Amino acid sequence: MKLLFVLLLAVCTIISATERGYFWHLTDLHLDPNYTVTSDPGKVCPSAGDQPVTNAGKWGSYLCDSPGALINSSIYAMKAILPDPDFILWTGDDTPHVPNEQLGEKAVLEIVEWLTNLIMQVFPTTKVYAALGNHDFHPKNQFPTQNNSIYYGISEYWKPWLKQESTSTFQKGAFYSEQLVNTGTVGRVIIVNTNFYYDSNSITANMEDPGDQFAWLENQLTNASQKGEKVYIVGHVPPGYFEKKRGKPWFRENFNKRYVEIIQKHHKVIQGQFFGHHHTDSFRMFYSNSGDPVSSMFIAPGISPWKTTLPGVDNGANNPGIRVFEYDRKNLLVLDMVTYYMNLTYANEESPRWEKEYRLTEAFQVSDGSPQSMHQVLEKISTDHCFLQKYYEYNSVSYDLESCGEACKIDHVCAIREVDFPKYATCLKNESSALKPIYHITMMIVILLIYLLPK
Ligand SMILES: [Zn+2]
Repeated sequence: MKLLFVLLLAVCTIISATERGYFWHLTDLHLDPNYTVTSDPGKVCPSAGDQPVTNAGKWGSYLCDSPGALINSSIYAMKAILPDPDFILWTGDDTPHVPNEQLGEKAVLEIVEWLTNLIMQVFPTTKVYAALGNHDFHPKNQFPTQNNSIYYGISEYWKPWLKQESTSTFQKGAFYSEQLVNTGTVGRVIIVNTNFYYDSNSITANMEDPGDQFAWLENQLTNASQKGEKVYIVGHVPPGYFEKKRGKPWFRENFNKRYVEIIQKHHKVIQGQFFGHHHTDSFRMFYSNSGDPVSSMFIAPGISPWKTTLPGVDNGANNPGIRVFEYDRKNLLVLDMVTYYMNLTYANEESPRWEKEYRLTEAFQVSDGSPQSMHQVLEKISTDHCFLQKYYEYNSVSYDLESCGEACKIDHVCAIREVDFPKYATCLKNESSALKPIYHITMMIVILLIYLLPK
């Protein structure tokens, strides 16, 4: 009887300690307004460039950015799966992959407005925290560090989502910070404009702290710590390396270094980082100088299935994906994450269907999405081929089902483990040299077999 009482008390304590909330993470919608279903392979979508597009379907093509029908379907799927989330994170890249001459400022603004209206119409009472992607400017990537007509125009569209003080910081540099509302938590969402740190942005190339955003971010984190708030950091272009192309970072090195230092210094208040840009599903680890996992960044898959034209990337398309996070409303701890997707081939051949792809804690057998658990996920991926393969298939949202071999494993594991540039280089070296003895032994066995085989 006494034991039963103790058990009951323990269960009650656990239940009251966790208050589960839910939010969506949506990214890389890349609307291609000129997508057309036609049998002429040169006329389907401008976003395919010179590549001929055959078998284009209503819901899109792996060579193109998203048709409006696909984006509509995604937003309504979110509504059907989880109609009343605590909030939505929307991490940008709204316009298609086309040359600047084919777009212009007016077209960029029209696309952002169209998507904003769609999200507002489907989720009229939901708070949306939105960041701009490198494609959400004209000319693309060239984000300035002061007021301009694009920041201003977008701040007007986002008025219902932005507090007054956020509007003024957004108009200056497209970043802002707000206390979380409607969740009963002492928490904060910090939207950062990491397009300032992108190596394709020539405006900020020689600046030490573009838009004084690093100083502002440190200030926000220090204040949060003093107030006992926990924080989510939300942005588009992530630091570190692209896991599908060895040696391909996005940030300039000095900016990458500063970003990592800030996360290390303030990790105690940061409960998660949420980014996009890759179109793939991955994550990044941040460690203390003594090697403890202190923070994780979740990189969400995109809606656009567009096959990247980045040289050296094999099979770089993805199925459209959307993601729900489950979190503890009391302290913003990430409890779980569920990814849903549309198999584009099936959608075009049969009917559009959004299905669950995987749940983090089930697929990787971990207890939650804390940095300690994400470190365990990384350990599993790097030591067990079954987990590596599972991760690899989810990485392209179940598009690329090829086997992830040794070189592929090194690319993914080092990109996840080391956001810092010098440490990433060391990881590549160590992992590659770890392979050498296996290679030599295999070669010796092959030579011996050839020698021993009857001639
Ligand atoms: Zn991007």
